Amino acid sequence: MSIIDEVRAIVPRGNISGQGWHNFNCPSCGDSRGRGGVLFTEDGFIYRCFDGGCTYNLRNLGWRKGGCFGRRQKEWFQLMGGDVRDLPIKEVQGDKGYQAPKDNIPTFTEFKTFSMPDNWQILWDSDNEDVKQYLMDKTNGAVQSSNILYDPSDPSCYIVPFTHKKEVVGYVKRDITARKGEKRMNGYAPPQYMAGQDRIFDKGYKYLIVVESPLDAMMLKTVGVRSNVLTKSQVKLLRMSRMTIVMVPDYNRKEAAGFIKVAQENDWYLSAPFSKDIRFKDIGDVIKYGGMLFTIERILAERTKRLVLMK
Ligand SMILES: [Zn+2]
Repeated sequence: MSIIDEVRAIVPRGNISGQGWHNFNCPSCGDSRGRGGVLFTEDGFIYRCFDGGCTYNLRNLGWRKGGCFGRRQKEWFQLMGGDVRDLPIKEVQGDKGYQAPKDNIPTFTEFKTFSMPDNWQILWDSDNEDVKQYLMDKTNGAVQSSNILYDPSDPSCYIVPFTHKKEVVGYVKRDITARKGEKRMNGYAPPQYMAGQDRIFDKGYKYLIVVESPLDAMMLKTVGVRSNVLTKSQVKLLRMSRMTIVMVPDYNRKEAAGFIKVAQENDWYLSAPFSKDIRFKDIGDVIKYGGMLFTIERILAERTKRLVLMK
């Protein structure tokens, strides 16, 4: 039998996800929730575990026809109950001169520091009561502990600074009186930057919540991708996190499509904490209603891999 046939023979029967993952308890980390999964590809297979901290979570295992079935692959094969002596030696050795296809997707983890204009100040030190009140209402008071900025020459605006490794690398400026267009929202951010993306590599947390809005991300101390469509580089970076990812898409079906697609492709959780309650149109509404803790609890309680959005 070929290597692929041998691998097929040891994968437990049963639970197959819509994307073709054969899910079962990972034999490496003592998992009992079916977090291990094999995906058969065109010319090989991938194994990964969705249990944060498992060695197969930190680094996928894979093999493709032509490549060498090395020590790591053999270890896994035995862990799965296979016997390496059953494997065809020729295939195990791989083709001479075989080169694994390269992953050419770059990640962006360094950004230039942005020099802020001298007249910007901390909003809470200013006397702009209108903007302060607006934000207090909008965030149920949560915003008070954050470094929102204020530009005295633009009195109806507040500024959310984008920080990375404790440096400011950009900002978004929001005019609370403008309904739409350039005036409502403008700013600067390095391409590929996600608000709060340092947190992808935080240790000690179980979940990483991913939202769209940088203000929501700042409130929830999480990651805001600033768009409803993620780039390949952003997806790759999120995949490098050891936390379990929970994506919170917009309530609008069309707007949510990008988040839903990426979550399904990567077997991440989705959460629409507003879906069962008509009062909540988006995550901002949930924060406004119940504050931060309420919102985080609700996001986690509603997490699912089969999201059905309201109309
Ligand atoms: Zn595992």
